[in-house]
Amino acid sequence: MKVIVFDLDGTLYEDTHHFDYYAKRIEEKLREEKRTFFRKDYEAVLFGTHPLKIGSVYDAEEDLILLLDGDGFVHSVYEWNGNKWSDDDVQTKYPERIAVDLDNMLSIGDLWWVPSALGRHYGLTNKETYAAFLETRTFMMSPHFTMERTAGLAELLTQLRQHLFLVLMTNSPRPDSEAILEKLGLSNVFHKKIFQAKKPVDTAKHLKTICLEVGVRYEEIMSIGDNWRNDIFPAKQLGCQTIYIDPHQIGTNESADVVVRNVGEWVNLLRNKYGVSKF
Ligand SMILES: [Mg+2]
Repeated sequence: MKVIVFDLDGTLYEDTHHFDYYAKRIEEKLREEKRTFFRKDYEAVLFGTHPLKIGSVYDAEEDLILLLDGDGFVHSVYEWNGNKWSDDDVQTKYPERIAVDLDNMLSIGDLWWVPSALGRHYGLTNKETYAAFLETRTFMMSPHFTMERTAGLAELLTQLRQHLFLVLMTNSPRPDSEAILEKLGLSNVFHKKIFQAKKPVDTAKHLKTICLEVGVRYEEIMSIGDNWRNDIFPAKQLGCQTIYIDPHQIGTNESADVVVRNVGEWVNLLRNKYGVSKF
């Protein structure tokens, strides 16, 4: 292994209280009469009793919730009220492989996508949910957002950077991501930082650039992330090594080379394998 590519949110820290802040920013952009419904849906998703789940795909144009198989074909379709479509109807409506994007075919790969998908359902535009996202990132930069550092993470990366090329690859913009890295004590550990990476659409493109720039093969790259479709699947397809952080337990043993439940687990794993004097 010569390169490790890290996602940021949910990978280098695991605080989650900003998602409630994000949901509130979305909620206040809704028409008054929709807000209670939004809040009830948000709670139901967190509780696991809503058809929209982490791991599903939201077709915003059709207002349908899709479950895909490993090859990207739709195997189940749910309406917002939980009504499940027949196999025949699914086949007729979605005969082709689904290409997720960042506008209308939204991969609910982590908690970031829950408030925005709900907001879209209740009539917000992509632009409005993105504005709420940016407000949330501004909050995260402020001293009001306190973050918990994962024990040993900063020390491990400081050590690893002497032997490996470390890359940060996040969909978030630069200013807030840098502020978060600062809070985590990770400002100076990465050799390369890719912001607004447009994962999953551009994940493979970035990995290819890394290969060319650093002069390594895909097999010598490891990708670590908590969003399977963004961070793991495209890397795995190219032959990279993968560690999938799966706090919602939506994956299987085959989801990645290694599947862990939280940030601390991958830190321990890499520390045992590559920590002090293992090079
Ligand atoms: Mg993430």
